[in-house]
Amino acid sequence: MAIVRKVLVVGGGTAGWLTATYLARALGAAKPGGVAVELVESPDISIVGVGEGTFPSIRGTLSTIGLDENKFIARANATFKQGIRFEHWARPPGAPGRDHYLHPFSAPSQRPGAPELLPYWLLGYAPKELAFAEAVTMQKRVTDAGRAPKRLSDGPWQAPLNHAYHFDAARFADVLSEHGQQDLGVVRRAATIERVELDQAGAIACVHTREQGALSADLYVDCTGFRSLLCGQALGVGWRSAKDVLFNDRAWAMQVPYERKDTPIPSFTIARAHEAGWTWDIGLHERRGVGYVFSSRHTDETRAEQVLRGYLGKAADGLTAKLIKFEAGHRTAPWHKNCVAVGLAGGFVEPLESTGIALIEIAAYLIAHLFPADGDMTPVSKTFNAMMAARYERIFDFIKLHYCLSQRRDTPFWIDNVDAASIPQTLQDKLAMWRCRPPHRLDFISDLEMFLPASWQYVLYGMEFRTDLSALRDVYDQVESARREFAAVQHVAGLALDDLPAHRALVEAMARDY
Ligand code: FAD
Repeated sequence: MAIVRKVLVVGGGTAGWLTATYLARALGAAKPGGVAVELVESPDISIVGVGEGTFPSIRGTLSTIGLDENKFIARANATFKQGIRFEHWARPPGAPGRDHYLHPFSAPSQRPGAPELLPYWLLGYAPKELAFAEAVTMQKRVTDAGRAPKRLSDGPWQAPLNHAYHFDAARFADVLSEHGQQDLGVVRRAATIERVELDQAGAIACVHTREQGALSADLYVDCTGFRSLLCGQALGVGWRSAKDVLFNDRAWAMQVPYERKDTPIPSFTIARAHEAGWTWDIGLHERRGVGYVFSSRHTDETRAEQVLRGYLGKAADGLTAKLIKFEAGHRTAPWHKNCVAVGLAGGFVEPLESTGIALIEIAAYLIAHLFPADGDMTPVSKTFNAMMAARYERIFDFIKLHYCLSQRRDTPFWIDNVDAASIPQTLQDKLAMWRCRPPHRLDFISDLEMFLPASWQYVLYGMEFRTDLSALRDVYDQVESARREFAAVQHVAGLALDDLPAHRALVEAMARDY
């Protein structure tokens, strides 16, 4: 066992640069005695170039690596994301009833001394016209009014309303690359790997590049995207597929210019359900990123492109779309011997709820904090693999929730999604419990969850799941206090609308100096 003195990150997409910068910061790459972090990326193989919606954890990650928020906003073409607006998921367009709901990032209001609002909402004590998210947080009204989650005067990465960001994936990698090299001591090499050499024990000995010969390290991080050059191809690590649960396996993606320079920018991702999948619509500062994620078992590529163009209307005229193929699943052992796969090389669910980049953040965090400094990879790899697998399984449940609660039966895609055989038993068990009580934090193991109880609640009740609390009605006896809280949420929302700037105005003010 050799002490780990050098890490080689292979690949320079979002996974490569986020992992390299995070490890360089955590392991002191710029300091004497720190662990050296090198990144090799091919000048010829482009990054996947999608993955523009993030999860609120990104604020902690970017602040930890010491990025300047204004510079990030300006250079990565970034905007704020306060949640996801789901359109036509519960029922098809034109059917009577609500046609959308919001999954906001701010948790339900819970002031000291006030009761938890969810049971009182379920029992009908909130004003009838208010959907769950609207009754318990001001974020729905704030986003509907086009307001940002913070003011210019709020500190970097700080905000009264919880949020993440949308950004341009290629420009984000450039920002991280510059920061990593200038401020954190990451050494970048532009070279294409042609061959991976293994040693006698089956670990990676070195990678052979076309431009720079052999490169070696004590620990390799495979961030080569869907190719999974080291972990999948060279080491032959297996794949746990989730395609029988999550059917989507293709996406058409497009970059769409704004009609006008001052077009308002929504501070949420718009996820609209269609006949065989859903479209994402993300407003960046200077363009939109739009795509249709679909199941090739339920439609074909030509029809899917028509659906995307139909969604965009005239805005799609003259634009080309890029097709991306994937399969929901993850490597059975993403950390194998002296190599750990991060990003698409290690697994992918589907774009819904933006789990891709958040899983990269988690992997980088685990590698940094479980770091096998003495070179003994075996115990660390076991812990890492178990934690990542557990996270994936929980994410599969959460993503499937969005599909299996739908009342849509208008196409085979939606009918197949409610087939019990496609719903994991773990999810079926949760839903069975929640028919007579709402989700509780005890249903979750916080260190393994990406989605906290509030997210489950927003999606469950946004999709109009029924939890029947009537047998316990008398237990919930703080009705007047709950009613005051529901009124307070609306009152504070009104004040916030006066206080918070328009989303585009804030982005432009923050980006002005770069
Ligand atoms: P890539 O971006 O593919 O980068 C691979 C890198 O490896 C490149 O730098 C390439 O040059 C290098 N490389 C490859 N082969 C070699 C070689 N032989 N030699 C040297 N270098 C090599 N995630 C989210 O969080 N939010 C979203 O909204 C979201 N939407 C998505 C939508 C779609 C349709 C898809 C497919 C994914 C989405 N994701 C999303 C996931 C997200 O895109 C990825 O997690 C993220 O981009 C990371 O990609 P990567 O860095 O692993 O791979």
